[in-house]
Amino acid sequence: MKILVINSGSSSIKLQLLSMAGEQVLASCLVERIGEEDSRCRCVFGKGGAAEQTIERRQAIASHQEGMRLALGLLTDPAQGVLAGHSELSAVGHRVVHGGEDFHEPCLIDETVIKAIEDNTPLAPLHNPAGLDGIRVAMKLLPGVPQVAVFDTAFHQTMPPRAFHYALPRRFYLENRLRRYGFHGTSHQYVAGECARLMGRPLGELNLITIHLGNGSSMTAIERGKSVDTTLGLTPLEGLVMGTRCGDIDPSIPAFLARNRGMDIEEIDAMLNKESGLKGICGLGDMRDIHQAISQGNAAAALALEILTYRNRRYIGAFMAVLGQVDAIVFTAGIGENDSAVREKSLAGLENFGIVLDAEKNRRAQAGAREIGDANSRTRLWVIPTNEELAIARQALALATRNKERS
Ligand code: ADP
Repeated sequence: MKILVINSGSSSIKLQLLSMAGEQVLASCLVERIGEEDSRCRCVFGKGGAAEQTIERRQAIASHQEGMRLALGLLTDPAQGVLAGHSELSAVGHRVVHGGEDFHEPCLIDETVIKAIEDNTPLAPLHNPAGLDGIRVAMKLLPGVPQVAVFDTAFHQTMPPRAFHYALPRRFYLENRLRRYGFHGTSHQYVAGECARLMGRPLGELNLITIHLGNGSSMTAIERGKSVDTTLGLTPLEGLVMGTRCGDIDPSIPAFLARNRGMDIEEIDAMLNKESGLKGICGLGDMRDIHQAISQGNAAAALALEILTYRNRRYIGAFMAVLGQVDAIVFTAGIGENDSAVREKSLAGLENFGIVLDAEKNRRAQAGAREIGDANSRTRLWVIPTNEELAIARQALALATRNKERS
């Protein structure tokens, strides 16, 4: 039982081949800079094992189809022995960013699904066409293999209207489907499931706050296993402070900039997405660089860390109020898994709410899932590595198996 997971971006494709028997990664490939002169494809086989091997091809890759063909060629190369041919694949799982209101769960891809993803393109003008490119090419190159779409927005479709509506004229929702969708759903759902497993309780009994802190960041309030609110909105710009994205701002700021600085809407949009967040505050968008700069006395970098962790704390408070009672808080993704200072500052001063960190456990550099709360913490505190590829592979396999049994 092998599953191929595909995450197709505008100029890159990430592929991961998994053997589902032991949930083991057989190979990971990255096709980068598609359409540029210095494009390349890099595959790592048997990562972490004695026979780990990396194969790289640097050559012009003009299209997603060429990139995928190259990667599949490496994956099926008999010298590597990880995949004899595409008939060995039980399914392909595709990450699709925006499922709009049409998709509450993963689904088998057919022409109707492709059309629905196309129809949601206005909601994700860069991401959905790239995802569709990946789907079309995979359907062509891997005929007969069930293709499954897993949506970043699907987990949040359980949010109640009071959480997903904006207080704007209702016609924008009715005519343009303008509302909060939320993203990183696969990651929030995965770490929530892992947390329930580690706590030995059914997910359906648990209230959780899951905090995904990477280049893009979001926090989700989970009530009895279901997403009831999340910080990202119509697009992945709202909420927490991110690497280069601003998160919450006064909505009148774009109009202010247009009037007072003559900026047009495209410039403002690019600035909010690519020049703001940590990068906007101190010039550095990567948290490791920020810590380095702080250690050298950089005051702007220290301010960036303060603003980011203050915003996290503000939303933890908000989501405690949303949920009333919280069984656990989970940190995940690049910063959430690795940065003890961000975790400590994000939870500081919340003891009266029943949130008590064990500073020593929090600082211990340790890989894998671990508990970082004090024994007296009413809300348990966890670091749980996310694994979106595995989550997509599991869902793709489950759906393909169900479909096979039915037919
Ligand atoms: P993406 O959203 O692109 O998947 P990641 O989840 O990989 O991003 O997170 C990237 C962020 O994680 C960067 O800000 C990076 O600096 C941070 N990060 C990764 N490793 C560490 C570490 N050891 N300590 C602090 N921050 C880290």
